[in-house]
Amino acid sequence: MASVKLTDVKKVYDNKVTSVHDFNLEIKDKEFVVFVGPSGCGKSTTLRMIAGLEDITEGTVEIDGVVVNDLQPKDRDIAMVFQNYALYPHMTVYDNIAFSLRLKKVPEDEIYEKVTSAAEVLGITEYLTRKPRALSGGQRQRVAIGRAMVRNAKVFLMDEPLSNLDAKLRNQMRAEIILLRQKLDTTFIYVTHDQTEAMTLGDRIVIMRDGIIEQVGTPMEVFEKPENIFVAEFIGAPKMNMMKTELTCENGRWYVNPFGAKIEVDGAKAEELKAKNVQPQTVTLGVRPEHMTLLFEPSANSIPCKLEVNEMMGSEVHLHMTTKDDTKLIVRVPTIELNEEQRKMLAYGRELYITFSGKVMHFFDPQTSRNLIYG
Ligand code: ADP
Repeated sequence: MASVKLTDVKKVYDNKVTSVHDFNLEIKDKEFVVFVGPSGCGKSTTLRMIAGLEDITEGTVEIDGVVVNDLQPKDRDIAMVFQNYALYPHMTVYDNIAFSLRLKKVPEDEIYEKVTSAAEVLGITEYLTRKPRALSGGQRQRVAIGRAMVRNAKVFLMDEPLSNLDAKLRNQMRAEIILLRQKLDTTFIYVTHDQTEAMTLGDRIVIMRDGIIEQVGTPMEVFEKPENIFVAEFIGAPKMNMMKTELTCENGRWYVNPFGAKIEVDGAKAEELKAKNVQPQTVTLGVRPEHMTLLFEPSANSIPCKLEVNEMMGSEVHLHMTTKDDTKLIVRVPTIELNEEQRKMLAYGRELYITFSGKVMHFFDPQTSRNLIYG
């Protein structure tokens, strides 16, 4: 059992740089929470304050209702896995995993039990007698996780544990962390700059920028209801397209007119606009690349574009387009939807057309960047 609560937590380095501002968050027992955001936004600092590796300038951190601000890391019942693994090079895998238990004078037979069962879960039994240098990056990362596992910690903290691995291994280890989480059944706080990791691992995601929480929500909440432009662009790849346009209302029906196209806002979305008392106005309209449709011929509701870059990903193609006024838009098209002739038409400089449905629109205030419905 372990809940974690941060109340008005602030970190000021050297009396001048405020790296974390008034961080407030309650993490429930057994919840998997991911802190995500660009480099330097304060994720690691926040995690390190929870771990006790960094002083808390202001505010409180509680674990299971007990304020731990003044407790040493070793007394906080937490286990931490770092990006650089931090294994002891002269020790075998077994001894690395056993290290903290030996410090605590746990009997050797109990240590044996714990180390071998962790190794089993992580699939590293055959490497127990090896030294870390004889392991691959992924295997070393498993040892680092094993070392944290045997401590029976209340909270598992992970700081960019996969960022030193190549892309394929990272995907594999991500899946393993999901499995591990099911087996360990404990509270996880995981730091990453990678939105895919955040989306796939987190029960809830905390999106940070410049030491401030921009939004907290489930993966689907932050994807479908981003509260501001920063979150909308940070979650999802390639990032959401943004267009300056007028939001108008005629006889109770709502429209947008980006680059001369006239597209009606879907009924349910229009109801949401009404419920929030949104007035006709200039908006920043957001549409995800996968929600845009490519057309080869113009139509009443299409945006004429010029194709600049064609990124063939195999199962889909990412088309980088520019409108007449040089706005950049990206469209994701499943390759299977294109016939041979159409694929040949995706050439540099080609005139193409984009449209999208009224269901997939996000409306932001151009001044404040807030979502007009969810912000
Ligand atoms: P993230 O983990 O999101 O990349 P960090 O928490 O590491 O960000 O850093 C947040 C901010 O705090 C950055 O601007 C960084 O330069 C600053 N910072 C981190 N550690 C220190 C330190 N020991 N002394 C001074 N500034 C620091």
